[in-house]
Parts: sequence; C-alpha cells; structure tokens
Amino acid sequence: MGPTAGVVQQVDVLASADPSSWDLADLESGLGELAVAANRLFAVQMRVLAAFDARGAGQIAGFRSTADWLAKTTGIPAGRAGWLVHTARALCDELPATAVALAEGRIGEGHVRVIRHAQRRLGERFAAVEAIVAGFAAGHSDRETRVLVERLVQQYAPADHDDEAEVDRERRRVHLSDSIDGWWHLDGLLDPATGAALKAALDVFAEATGPDDTRSPAQRRCDALGEIADRSCDQSDRPTGVGHVTVTVTPEQIVTGQGVEWPNGLLASSTDVAVHGCSAAVSLVEGIRVDDVHWQPLAVGFAQRFASTAQRVALAVRDGAGCVHTGCTVPAWRCVAHHRRSWADGGPTDVDNMVLICRYHHRRVHHGRLDLTQRDNGTWTTVAPHLFPDTG
Ligand SMILES: [Zn+2]
Ligand SMILES: [Zn+2]
Repeated sequence: MGPTAGVVQQVDVLASADPSSWDLADLESGLGELAVAANRLFAVQMRVLAAFDARGAGQIAGFRSTADWLAKTTGIPAGRAGWLVHTARALCDELPATAVALAEGRIGEGHVRVIRHAQRRLGERFAAVEAIVAGFAAGHSDRETRVLVERLVQQYAPADHDDEAEVDRERRRVHLSDSIDGWWHLDGLLDPATGAALKAALDVFAEATGPDDTRSPAQRRCDALGEIADRSCDQSDRPTGVGHVTVTVTPEQIVTGQGVEWPNGLLASSTDVAVHGCSAAVSLVEGIRVDDVHWQPLAVGFAQRFASTAQRVALAVRDGAGCVHTGCTVPAWRCVAHHRRSWADGGPTDVDNMVLICRYHHRRVHHGRLDLTQRDNGTWTTVAPHLFPDTG
C-alpha cells in the first residue's frame, strides 16, 4: 500500500455515508473541516507533483513533460495540467509562506492563483512581499486578495500595471446573434468601466415598478436593455433611419395588428404592433406592397402621433408625476403617452385621449391584462379588466 492509501480509505468511508441523516451541527462542522482538508490535500498534491516533476518521471515514462503526462494519464485538461505543474514548482522553490499557509489549510487554490498572478507581475520583487500577501490571503477572500495584489502591482510597477490593464481590456467583447426562431442570443464580457456604466443604467431601468411587478429580475434586465436601446436611438434630432428599427406595414396591418414582421422576419405580435404604435420606439411607415420585395410608402412621419413635451407635462399634472398604474414607481420621463383610442383607430394626439404609463403596464394594457378608467376627479388610473364597467 502506498503512502496515500489511508486517505483513499477515509474518503471511501465518507463517500458511503448519508449526509442527509446528519444533524445540523455535524453538517456545519463537516463543511468547515472538508474545506480545510481540501486545501491541505491540494498542498499535498502539489508537493507530490513537485517531487514527481523533479525526477523527470514524466519524460522517463515517454511523455513530453510532466504536464503532458498529467493531462494524458489523469484526463486533466492540458491547460490546467500545465498550471498545476508550474504552481507545484513555484510552491516548492519560490513561495515558502504560501506553501505553509496552504499546507495548514488556511488558504485555498483560489488564493494560490492570485498569489501566482502577483508573482508573475512583480517578478523578483515579489519575494520581498510574499509573506505579507500570504498572511493577508489567510484572513481574506481570494477576491479581496486580488485587490491587494492590484494595489501592490500599481505601487511597485505602475507602467506594468497600466500596460497589463490595456492588454486585459482586449478581452472585452459582446456577441449578439439572431437564432432561427427570431430570438436573439446576447453573450459577452465587459471591461470594468463599461460593466459599471451598464450596471448603473440597469439599476435605473430594471427596477421593479412596484409590488405587483411579476417579472423576474432577469426579465426586467431584458426589458431595461430594450428601453435603453429605444431611448438612445429615439432622438428626434437624428435623421430618420439612424439607429431606428424600421418595420413596414400596410394600412390593414396597422388596424388588425396582424402580419407585421420584425426586420429579421419574425412575426410581430399584435400587442407588439399596438405598443409601438403608442411609443416612438419603432417608427411605423405606412406602405403598400409593390411586389415581393418592394414597398411603396404611402405616408411617413407620424410625428404628430407622439405627444409633445408640453402635452406630456399636462398629462403629468393631471394624472400625477408618473405611471397612472396605482403603486407604480416609474417616473413620467420614462413613461409612454398611451392613446386610449389608438391612432390607427382615428384616436387624436390630444391630452384628453392620452395617459402617461410605464412600458411594463403599457404592454399589459395592450395585451388586455389592464384597462384604464377615469376617476370622478377626471384623472386616470388602471383597473383589472373584469372590474371595468361594461359599457356594452
Ligand atoms: Zn398604448
Ligand atoms: Zn407602471
């Protein structure tokens, strides 16, 4: 039996146990002890690997390197195998305080990763501060340790820090691609400044409208991205078509809300058509189809369909400084001027025909989940459809 057989036996015993039958105190202490044990085992693994590597055992066995042997005999991905071998060597030869903290289980692999990063960045200068960083790591998270390391690098090697930050920024990316069903995949990695700016914008636009907002946080972030995009492209001083979504419809389609396509060919729902008829986010251009490809515009520029600033102020004065839905916290500047009688139906862009409502509740109105009702004092609010008086 080899020196590690005892560990395997002990793990076998634990693996056959049933933690769901343990009492809470045992679960709690178990998790703490296992975390420390995992760190200590990692330290042992590193020392065993360093000893194996020092004898060139991988090459003797016919592999290119220790990392090559490790990847091919254990199935560890090649990149990680290389990192493990380099880390084992560094812990053995260059990072004595880190090796001790790891052997005692006071730091984990995440901390070692940060410390190795610092060592690479500071080179020989790192030896002077290694014990300090390892001591700090033992009492802090790897993320906090990373912040300390960044400060050290900035202090000791400011030019390197700047260079590395610029190189690091090269990783930034956003991918947006439409899928076969007309939905869009969004994926990416944002640099700290862009991420913070987007987060700040999302904090404003993705907030729940009130206690009855049933959207998940992820759904609210999606809606917020839409609103941010609409707002940034919806400047009336910009030439038409720049940053706008152009959707072509026939007069019948405006009335029925049916058969309207988004630019990628996905059929717009009739709620989509109605919602965008009220908000300027999407400009609808009336036209007739000449042939399969070409459209003849009949009328463009529905600017008068959208409320003027003066009208919006008047609406806010009448209905309150935000969405007319009771309890909704969205302020007036983010609201849509909804036409109670739609413009397609001949409804005028008059204050009498409009209410300010947030995008979330606006959509619910057009989807028939909310109705609008006028109070005795002339102001407007929302009401569930079944409570709406039947006007026959
Ligand atoms: Zn509307
Ligand atoms: Zn609202």
